[in-house]
Amino acid sequence: MNIPVSVVRCDDYTYPNVHRAVQTCFDHLGGLKRFVRKDQKVLIKPNLLSAKDPSRAITTHPMVVRAVTEQVQNLGAVPILGDSPGGVDRGIRRVWENTKLSEVAGQTGAKLVAFETSGVHPKTTPAGKTYFIAKPVVDADVIISLPKLKTHTLTLMTCAVKNMFGSIPGFRKAEYHKQAPKPKDFAQVVVDIFSLTRPHLTLVDAVVCMDGDGPSSGDPKYAGLLFSSTNAVALDMVAAKIMGFKDNEIDTTRIAQKKGLGPKSFEQIQIHGERLEDIPLPKFVLPSNRFIKMIPDFLLKLITPFVWVRPNILDGNCTNCNVCVENCPTKSIHKGKNRPHFDYSRCINCMCCHELCPHRAIYLQKSRLARRIG
Ligand code: SF4
Ligand code: SF4
Repeated sequence: MNIPVSVVRCDDYTYPNVHRAVQTCFDHLGGLKRFVRKDQKVLIKPNLLSAKDPSRAITTHPMVVRAVTEQVQNLGAVPILGDSPGGVDRGIRRVWENTKLSEVAGQTGAKLVAFETSGVHPKTTPAGKTYFIAKPVVDADVIISLPKLKTHTLTLMTCAVKNMFGSIPGFRKAEYHKQAPKPKDFAQVVVDIFSLTRPHLTLVDAVVCMDGDGPSSGDPKYAGLLFSSTNAVALDMVAAKIMGFKDNEIDTTRIAQKKGLGPKSFEQIQIHGERLEDIPLPKFVLPSNRFIKMIPDFLLKLITPFVWVRPNILDGNCTNCNVCVENCPTKSIHKGKNRPHFDYSRCINCMCCHELCPHRAIYLQKSRLARRIG
């Protein structure tokens, strides 16, 4: 196996630069016409986690979406733009407006689809597990996935494989968190969903990434790159290297490799364009709870009373909006007069509350011993 991955510099989000870099990425892979034909329905799936401005680096930048959309249109195909944001539905239109996806639709004439209201198709893995996938994903002739490279406090990194978790509409995502409370089990769910929704092409927005406690409460980090491949697992291997994770550290990548969904090793990846060793990469701050994931399960059980990391609220930032209450899959957060309260005995540490708080009011609180270790 020799899997091509195209890595291209993109200095900023000005449209000519993004357009050129996207074109170069696709050219390295043989051109977009290899994947897209006239009149085909092409689902373009960015990461639209929440209704935030692109400058926050939480969502795929609209210029990347626009450049891909226009190149699809140039081939006579029909682009459809869609994703399911995180959490219960508080208004997809606000997400489209704030992330500037509406502007892309206005500029290009591409159709926006709401996964929340478009229905689902059941799809079953070879192991017999059924997932309910948004219809526009299943019905598309071609899927082009546009992830944003970010750290993630549950899965450590979110990139190409994790982006397809957004194929699951709204509340069902929380259900899957509940059914798979351990990070490794959740990673298995993510890979299952990826295996049922595999994109034909993935292009990663890593011009401005996110580091620290992502995917929404971290900090923007400039890397100045776009990278692309037909194989999302290979892209995640490249992404993990760029971010500074150890080999095999990302559960979703390891599980996907074991299932034969990607290259077994980095040697099977052929980089076209920029060699990683020649790029002045920034030092990424990795999630603050990362050390806990390195502790073996049996030991973790023993030391949990002393070594823990859990969500807590920064009073000054909390607006008592109750987004966290509505989105906790185990109902471990209760409404309060001035702010919600946690019932840690029910908490599965899925970090959905941390991910979905619109005001960066939830932080990862560490026990005294955890602070000394990590
Ligand atoms: S912690 Fe965040 S999500 Fe929860 S009520 Fe406060 S501001 Fe809203
Ligand atoms: S309190 Fe937060 S971390 Fe705990 S289960 Fe609920 S959403 Fe997940």
